Amino acid sequence: MAKKIIVAIDGWSSCGKSTLAKQLAKELGYIYVDSGAMYRAIALYFLRNNIDLTSTKDITVALKNINLEFIFNAQNGSSEIFLNGENVEYLIRDMLIAEKVSNVAAIKEVREFAVAQQQKMGAKKGIVMDGRDIGTVVFPKAELKLFMTADSAIRVQRRFKELFEKNPNISIEEVKDNLELRDYIDSNREVSPLKQAKDAIVLDNSNLSEKQQFQLAVDWVKEKI
Ligand code: C5P
Repeated sequence: MAKKIIVAIDGWSSCGKSTLAKQLAKELGYIYVDSGAMYRAIALYFLRNNIDLTSTKDITVALKNINLEFIFNAQNGSSEIFLNGENVEYLIRDMLIAEKVSNVAAIKEVREFAVAQQQKMGAKKGIVMDGRDIGTVVFPKAELKLFMTADSAIRVQRRFKELFEKNPNISIEEVKDNLELRDYIDSNREVSPLKQAKDAIVLDNSNLSEKQQFQLAVDWVKEKI
């Protein structure tokens, strides 16, 4: 039997990381973990409970009251995130959360909380995880690391299309500003900033179809197992 590996996928916002990660996990029979969903769910909890982001004490108490779980939904074939027993998979994709999440994810205590759980999920390998610090911090020894990128105009278009389907009132400027701001905060924060791991393969999918990028990634996985 082929050995099980860890596939770490990092990159800029809206590069199609989760699309590729899901496809790979399905192909390999691995677990897929969307680490961004964890930060989004924490941001949702903080927002609902008016947590003061400048108070380490309040943040520490809040994190003790947060339970995150991924549960597989057989109907749509993907795993969904539950915050204290509530399915928040849909809610966390809201623009309100997109506006807050990077500030929440920059907090040291929040990252320690999320990273500890992510490392546990990958303890037995056989996992594909996407995020911003997976190849650098969560699984620095991952057998395969991808760093995804794409032209920013293409990324904005992709995210706009996705969000517009849910909310026709959204504007392209709003989406562009949010992507730029998140990428700025994510790559400039003190704790675990987004950066390419030295041993990561860069995957620029600006001019690749989903099928082409999937094939490339499958070939890289095959080399590793
Ligand atoms: O992947 P997604 O865009 O849903 O992630 C939302 C936000 O969560 C990112 O903009 C980033 O601030 C944060 N994040 C992170 N580290 C990860 C995954 C996501 O800081 N591993």
